[in-house]
Amino acid sequence: MAKGQSKPDGEIVRYRIKIKGVVQGVGFRPFVYQLALTRQLKGSVLNSSQGVIIEAEGEKEKVLSFIENIRTSPPSLSRITAFEWEELPPLGANSFVILKSEGLAVSAGRQAEREALIPPDVAICPDCAREINDPFDRHYNYPFTNCTNCGPRFTITLEVPYDRINTSMAGFVMCPACTTEYHNPNDRRFHAQPVACPVCGPQVELVTNQGEVVATKDWLKGCWDILQNGNILALKSLGGFHLACLAQDRLAVQVLRRRKGRQAKPFAVMCRDLKAVRKYCTVSEDEAALLQAKEAPIVILNKKPDGSLPAEIAPGLKTLGVMLPYTPLHLLLFAGPFDILIMTSGNYRELPLVKDNGQALEILGRLADYILWHNREIINRCDDSLVAVAVPAGRQAEKETMFLRRSRGYVPQSIFVPRPKNAPVILGIGGEMKNCFCFLKGEQAFLSQHIGELDWLEGEENLSLSQKHWQRLLGVTPEIVAFDLHPDYKSAALARQIPAQKHFGVQHHHAHLAACLADNKVKDDEEVMGVILDGTGYGTDGCLWGFEFLTGNYHSFKRRYHLAYVPLPGGEKAIRQPWRTAVAYLITFMGEEGAELAQSFFSGKEVFLVARILESKLNLPLACGCGRLFDAVAALLGVCLENTYEGQAATELGELVLPIDEGVRLKPYPYKIKGEIISPTRLIREILNDRKKGVAATVIATKFHQTLSYLICDIISKLACETGLKKVALSGGSWQNRYLFQATRRQLTSQGYQVLYHKQLPANDGGIALGQAMVADRRWQKECVLGFRE
Ligand SMILES: [Zn+2]
Ligand SMILES: [Zn+2]
Repeated sequence: MAKGQSKPDGEIVRYRIKIKGVVQGVGFRPFVYQLALTRQLKGSVLNSSQGVIIEAEGEKEKVLSFIENIRTSPPSLSRITAFEWEELPPLGANSFVILKSEGLAVSAGRQAEREALIPPDVAICPDCAREINDPFDRHYNYPFTNCTNCGPRFTITLEVPYDRINTSMAGFVMCPACTTEYHNPNDRRFHAQPVACPVCGPQVELVTNQGEVVATKDWLKGCWDILQNGNILALKSLGGFHLACLAQDRLAVQVLRRRKGRQAKPFAVMCRDLKAVRKYCTVSEDEAALLQAKEAPIVILNKKPDGSLPAEIAPGLKTLGVMLPYTPLHLLLFAGPFDILIMTSGNYRELPLVKDNGQALEILGRLADYILWHNREIINRCDDSLVAVAVPAGRQAEKETMFLRRSRGYVPQSIFVPRPKNAPVILGIGGEMKNCFCFLKGEQAFLSQHIGELDWLEGEENLSLSQKHWQRLLGVTPEIVAFDLHPDYKSAALARQIPAQKHFGVQHHHAHLAACLADNKVKDDEEVMGVILDGTGYGTDGCLWGFEFLTGNYHSFKRRYHLAYVPLPGGEKAIRQPWRTAVAYLITFMGEEGAELAQSFFSGKEVFLVARILESKLNLPLACGCGRLFDAVAALLGVCLENTYEGQAATELGELVLPIDEGVRLKPYPYKIKGEIISPTRLIREILNDRKKGVAATVIATKFHQTLSYLICDIISKLACETGLKKVALSGGSWQNRYLFQATRRQLTSQGYQVLYHKQLPANDGGIALGQAMVADRRWQKECVLGFRE
């Protein structure tokens, strides 16, 4: 950037300003236009594939204050990643104009670098909400109303720059009224790309599950009747379809569970407004802010214990995932005679979310009685995001937003990572469950939307297609690709097929550690301690790790301590059936006595068979996951014998924990550390003793959690003595257990450690892609410096 030399006041200058980041579809050009007008500046502003380019001409002082104003207070939805300006010779321009967007400059077959970023989708704004409820407004009852401050963005965008022609609104020709607003710099809809009205925009249609039209004009009343009569309605939302039914209608909820093939995994609900949410849940100030945020995520809240909602919505849980209406269509729906609806993702089991009308008929036609669809195409599938405020009641100072799923509303916003701007483009393909992939481009990390489970062919296809689409959106081809070491991961197989200069396999828990380092912007090769707790991840010894004390940095790691291995009888089967893991724990750590106890605890189950498998020592993967320990304890307490969704036993056990202040005086269970191995024998034995004495499951669960927290701090102080390290990174899905996280974090902090935890991405496998990419980045750098290739 070249700043002008000082010139006498009043002199006319011309500057070209280039702004990169999320600057399109956020009202940037009208904002610039207004600023220019108020300062009587001449020139132009335009969207290009490299961001917004402004040329401003006028009195020097005014031009400089114009630049300063843009830089320091840009529109609220924008996010500037680079800001450059240079002086040009004045042209004697006589107006300020908004120029037509520049498409992609493709020269000599080489694609120009794309620097423009697409904004995430934004929940409906108060102005638009007012208009759809105003019988005198032309947007009255119109479900696609939006403006510069709200509406679909990422989910409807095919290409950059973000212009109507590159979105699924391209086919809708604006009517005169919309055209006028679109071109009026003083209007709220000035250059709002998805702008639409009943005359010219998309239309909804209410159809039966066979596709026969029920209503077009009176669709809203039709939907209300359908829901009131206990039916299930599939509706097309922003990033995909939802399945909705009355939340208070126990029978409808049961039917939905059966049809969706979802036994116990909690359903999310949508409430009319905050007042309605407070009727069913307790809501803190921070939680209310999250619910009402422009990202409109699902927020995990504590249910009120009055039982006004059927338990079937979230069996065995005290919490409920709640969101507020975030599209005009949702808002209009909630003008109906209900204030809470089940609003769960429109898919069968763990298949990708349905986003197309054809698919809706084929797949959701079997799950829903009616379908409310429309003719605006969803380009990018995007599930609802899921967050929680991790704070025990009354401890305001410790509140944090915890991401469980980072998707709609947050994607494709980048995360800054410590890395040079000119470093190669790296793709981290992610894991096998809760998959997200990640591109590193310069100092920015782009985490994809939630891709989900890959154990079905549809999941794999979803990953492959989405990854290719992101390459187009970002204008990149990966030079380096990173993947998980697990030999059976489909994500890893896919990654190996992607052409690149180099492929790196990254150990699962090292990826977690690196993701946490990047999330906390830890620089270069600073070494830290890591407590990585999750279900299972493939270890370098071929066993399934998951209760890991590591030391390391982005580049490499050492395994220092871990939980003792236990054989998983039946492998995957044991993960689905915690009682099998419990039997394995009893027999492995208590021998004969354990075998007898197993018979008495799980009578009727195939305990004998499991014991035989254990004796045979065949086909027995060794595992030490924290999730497996939770499984065993949950099964021993009779809390959960079968996992019908991932992490069910751990979640239900976590729900039993007493409020932190009541539980604080309980004495933790004993444990033993031998060499680098943590033995749970005494822990298991004492839990069984408590059970025999008739101690309440809530007390045992609380003591168990406290024990883990003590144990972790105990080992960290050993490790700190051994290494002199002071920072501890907490990562892995088990840290989503809010009690474990809060208790451990508080204890570690009070002992003087600096605790690093996830703030911008999930602690679960939804975050490992970033870690994989960062590890690959540092390994690549080292190889380049040393001048050798492995
Ligand atoms: Zn709006
Ligand atoms: Zn119109």
